Amino acid sequence: MSGGRYLFVSDLHLDGEAPRAVAQFMDFLRGEARGARALYILGDLFETWIGDDDDEPARNAICEALRAYTALTPCYVQRGNRDFLLGTGFERRSGCHLLPDPVRVQLGARTVLLSHGDVLCTEDVRYQRFRQFTRQSWTQRRFLSLPLGTRRALARAARAGSRAHTQGQPERIMDVSADAVASLLRLGAADLLVHGHTHRPANHAIEVDGRPATRVVLGDWYDEGSYLALGDDGIPQPLRLAPPRASTLSMEASSSRV
Ligand code: MN
Repeated sequence: MSGGRYLFVSDLHLDGEAPRAVAQFMDFLRGEARGARALYILGDLFETWIGDDDDEPARNAICEALRAYTALTPCYVQRGNRDFLLGTGFERRSGCHLLPDPVRVQLGARTVLLSHGDVLCTEDVRYQRFRQFTRQSWTQRRFLSLPLGTRRALARAARAGSRAHTQGQPERIMDVSADAVASLLRLGAADLLVHGHTHRPANHAIEVDGRPATRVVLGDWYDEGSYLALGDDGIPQPLRLAPPRASTLSMEASSSRV
């Protein structure tokens, strides 16, 4: 392959309490993702992100691994609904570049739309209201001015609340809306949309105004890591990762005890 592949991941939900996923991500950066043309992380890289000053050991280790990776390969990150507070401090710590959501990128011959995906779940009105509130700069400034310990406690409470809300919702409400997907593809004049968030990995062949289009949903990393590759042929290919190496796992396990 002449230029190498573009790679996409999302919903890794990395955290000190998920040492297996952290180890798998470290292996991925040193393994499959090496030599990629670029790596795109489409949101929820972290289980939570309470500010760029978050000093939790697993998050430190992940930022350091990304810093080593981005010295050789560009890495672009969108904010998810869990780590929407990623900011310029994270960019400095990791060497990654934050992207808006949604965003239109030209990758080789293909025009691709990228989104975490939560913004497309328009039927979940209560969530969209919450999303709007948490994206306001004054809300974020007030939250970020609180001590780290307080922010951590509030994030835990917000997660519990979100779980309660999610469990009470019918499946349909929790998925992206077909109308939102069609509008986005129309507006972006693209025929390929890649997103995560719903944890329902699939390649959907759809039609927008009579023209064929593809909606690719990335998988989460709860049980096993996966990624999407886009090579010179322009065909999105979902791939699974090998289980993390035992050496990486034990290293992460000992570092997460700190
Ligand atoms: Mn999400």
